[in-house]
Amino acid sequence: MTTERIDVLVVGGGPVGLFAAALLAARGIDVAVWERRATPPAGSRAIGIHPPSLDAFAAIGLDGPVLAEATLVRTGVARSRGRTLGTLRFARASDTHPYVATLDQHRTESLLRERLAASAPAALRTGTTLTALDRHADHVDASGAGPDGEEVSVRAAFVVGADGARSVVRDLLGIGTTGRDYPDRYVMGDFADPEDAGARSTALVDVGPAGVVESFPLPSGRRRYVAVVPDDEAFEPAPSAATAGPDPALAARLAAVVAARTGVTLDASTCTMLSGFRVRRRAADRVGVGRVVLVGDAAHEISPIGGQGMNLGWLDAAELAPLLADAVATGTAGPWPRYARRRQVIALRAARQAEVNMALGRPQRGLATTGREALLRTVLSLPTAHGLARVYAMRWA
Ligand SMILES: Cc1cc2nc3c(=O)[nH]c(=O)nc-3n(C[C@H](O)[C@H](O)[C@H](O)COP(=O)(O)OP(=O)(O)OC[C@H]3O[C@@H](n4cnc5c(N)ncnc54)[C@H](O)[C@@H]3O)c2cc1C
Repeated sequence: MTTERIDVLVVGGGPVGLFAAALLAARGIDVAVWERRATPPAGSRAIGIHPPSLDAFAAIGLDGPVLAEATLVRTGVARSRGRTLGTLRFARASDTHPYVATLDQHRTESLLRERLAASAPAALRTGTTLTALDRHADHVDASGAGPDGEEVSVRAAFVVGADGARSVVRDLLGIGTTGRDYPDRYVMGDFADPEDAGARSTALVDVGPAGVVESFPLPSGRRRYVAVVPDDEAFEPAPSAATAGPDPALAARLAAVVAARTGVTLDASTCTMLSGFRVRRRAADRVGVGRVVLVGDAAHEISPIGGQGMNLGWLDAAELAPLLADAVATGTAGPWPRYARRRQVIALRAARQAEVNMALGRPQRGLATTGREALLRTVLSLPTAHGLARVYAMRWA
């Protein structure tokens, strides 16, 4: 077997690995992506695309195609017990993109694959799983299994581990993680949008006493609902749900939760995606060793509440790609301690912000509910509220 030689191997063809590879390929770097899945994923999953990511997408001409399909969220409205507490406007959150875009993750990934193929048509190798790494001073040997179980290997100047929260690359490097599991349980689902046309660019966050219900407009007249739910098996998706489409009983239970807390009636039969999840936070102790660097969920997993995890990973990739391209061009090696420290600090900040979001959405009784409502009313009415919009739009990342 002859070993292929390339500049950079990206392990993992999820949203972050695809973006990292497309950025490198656009800079003329010889890149390959090994992706374990044989077929592209379906489903909406991560939907929020923040202004700094849209800015970074411009480097590969991805901002236009994403915006052509996405729905633009220009305001967020906080409500409780049938009353509006305040409005957050994204108008001053970014000079280039004064909104948060929403698009189903499978569409975003499909557009990323197209951009990668435009610069490097053969770069993405699906059905290919990394199993071993052998690190040397001036290269890394990677091996794994190809689509038919055959052995595959590659010699790369650098390896990027973009293989998600259960990263094999991280394990092979012997890098541990720290973090915590949270007690919260959520259910999220996509339904036909029951809000009137005036709310098509508005995210709604209801923080009533029974716990948060958030909703975000999606393309094609749909809306994503996310609700914190009791820690009860009734909110566990049926085991067949992954293969058989949304579990109708769970869709009806989520619709009932939304109706009870917000008064909004969802048509459960229009549910196209449904998922129940618990929340955890993990950070890799190091973001790489020698010529191997971790990005995305492999480096830091944060609570989905706040919708920042995928964006954090894209911004890792945007910051790492020029360093890698430069190292390939000059024949130098990492590590890049300043890059590593910066990305770790930014991930910690995002994780803390997600914690605040979760705390604000937990069920509360009596005076605590009144206090939360008063706090949100005050914060959203201050002249500094646009600063909060910048925080939610990840202007700091
Ligand atoms: C319910 C939910 C909602 C979310 N909503 C949002 C949101 O709105 N906005 C947001 O920014 N984030 C959101 N997130 C977080 C977001 O989904 C993740 O941060 C993002 O998917 C991470 O991307 P990634 O490419 O790093 O990892 P992944 O998406 O996990 O991709 C890793 C890829 O690596 C492949 N792989 C794994 N091991 C190997 C191997 N050994 N060899 C080859 N390939 C391998 C996998 O098949 C996979 O394709 C949400 C998360 C959840 C759970």
